[in-house]
Amino acid sequence: MAKKTLSTGICYLVGAGPGDPGLLTIKGKECIAAADVLVYDYLVNIEILRHGKPDVERIYVGKKAGDHTLPQEEINKLIVKLTREGKTVTRLKGGDPVLFGRGAEEAAELAEAGVRFEIVPGITSAIAGPAYAGIPITHRSHASQLTIFTGHEDPTKSETSLNYAKLAQAEGTKVFLMGVERMEEITGELIKHGAKAETPMALVRWATTGRQQTLVATLGTMAQKVKETGFKAPAVAVVGDVVTERDNINWFENRPLFGKRIVVTRTRQQAGVLSRQLADLGADVIELPTIRIEEPNDLLSFGELVQDCHKYDWIVFTSPNGVDAFFTMFDKLYNDARSIGGARIACIGPGTAEKIKARHLAVDLMPEKDFVAEGLVKAFKDKHDIENQTILWVKAEETREVIANGLTGLRAIVDEAVAYRTVAEREDNLEALARLKNEGADMITFTSAATVDHFLELGVALPENCEIASIGPVTSKALKKHELPIAVEAKSYTIPGLVEAIRKHFAK
Ligand code: SAH
Repeated sequence: MAKKTLSTGICYLVGAGPGDPGLLTIKGKECIAAADVLVYDYLVNIEILRHGKPDVERIYVGKKAGDHTLPQEEINKLIVKLTREGKTVTRLKGGDPVLFGRGAEEAAELAEAGVRFEIVPGITSAIAGPAYAGIPITHRSHASQLTIFTGHEDPTKSETSLNYAKLAQAEGTKVFLMGVERMEEITGELIKHGAKAETPMALVRWATTGRQQTLVATLGTMAQKVKETGFKAPAVAVVGDVVTERDNINWFENRPLFGKRIVVTRTRQQAGVLSRQLADLGADVIELPTIRIEEPNDLLSFGELVQDCHKYDWIVFTSPNGVDAFFTMFDKLYNDARSIGGARIACIGPGTAEKIKARHLAVDLMPEKDFVAEGLVKAFKDKHDIENQTILWVKAEETREVIANGLTGLRAIVDEAVAYRTVAEREDNLEALARLKNEGADMITFTSAATVDHFLELGVALPENCEIASIGPVTSKALKKHELPIAVEAKSYTIPGLVEAIRKHFAK
């Protein structure tokens, strides 16, 4: 029996799910949020690490390119040591932590060391993988029994402990993991022991992610097909009549952008919204942040202008980043939402307006459809007399002067509050760059002129046949300046507008 312990440290052995970041449990998410240290494996989707605290320590123990995984004994020692130090350690393992995941061994080490631990089950690839390929692992008319086994046993064991005779005779569905490399042997043994060669079979690779691939064959033909197509691990294998259900319910791979690899170049913080919408339509998204938002060089002046914001007739916001920077400063200066006074608020477009509304402030003016600086100036011109009115324009350091010139032209008095700077993102994108180089992409998205300029600064070649999508005319202008061909330009210059344009483009 595990010893009772009062140690302050705790280790959560968490199932991270099969890949789709939405398939993490709520408890798993809470464990990530509570962690001082995250220890994670190769098959864990690193997107879920975002739920961690900003300063959380991350330790990767999976295999690196060409490299081997940290040996299991070292991992055991590591998590025991960290937990003993009094830390909250969240150990993330792909799928479920104990299903062919050596979670039990880690638990035993923690128990032996007398430190606290908990096991948080996860959604296993053995069930979710087939489900995302439109294959239910049981079915009233096909299978009422499920057998799960591993195709890759402990290589130090001399003889297989798999009893192929019994496996072959098992009723219902069979699922095996880690079997791609030994496909010929496994399917051969099953057939040799009486399984029917014509039993339907599927392999699902990188299941539940945008790069999912499914190969359908029979028990008798799969090994050959794997060779022919060069199909690689990691994949879940599923054998049984349930595979035929895929013909009717292949929901995941039928989504409009499935099979399209799309690059998102916005800041890491902002990428989420666009990535999510593309992924929801089935795209395989590579986040390659090219820019990062930083404080303005003259933070003091910005602070002074924010402090005086209630003295203005209008406050004009021309980007969501500006709204964020403004209210971060505002909240430092004031404890009362009313300190913004009676100033009216104008926004360049819906994304910016949404941020304002999230603060429970109403937007008094926004262009009807032309969500660029020119559109906002026109909206003022059409709807308001701003002669002699005072305007505080919250802007990026490098923004075009259209607003200042336009509003001054309408005889307003404009003060410019430089709220942030856009700089090149140099960290955090090694993996994305590697994927771009190795796997290519179907489309790259640009959501501002800055993303264009900074992408080009990275000096990365655009993959072959990679098309370009632009959020609107200002971004397109930056692309044209560099003679880059634009395949898609959003009709509505917003993130949903861009997503819709991309969907339409690929529907053709
Ligand atoms: N504990 C994990 C399995 C770990 S063993 C779970 O419950 O899912 C690793 C094997 O799991 C891989 O070789 C592969 O067979 C399978 N696997 C894990 N994630 C997968 C995914 N997203 N797509 C396909 N196979 C996956």
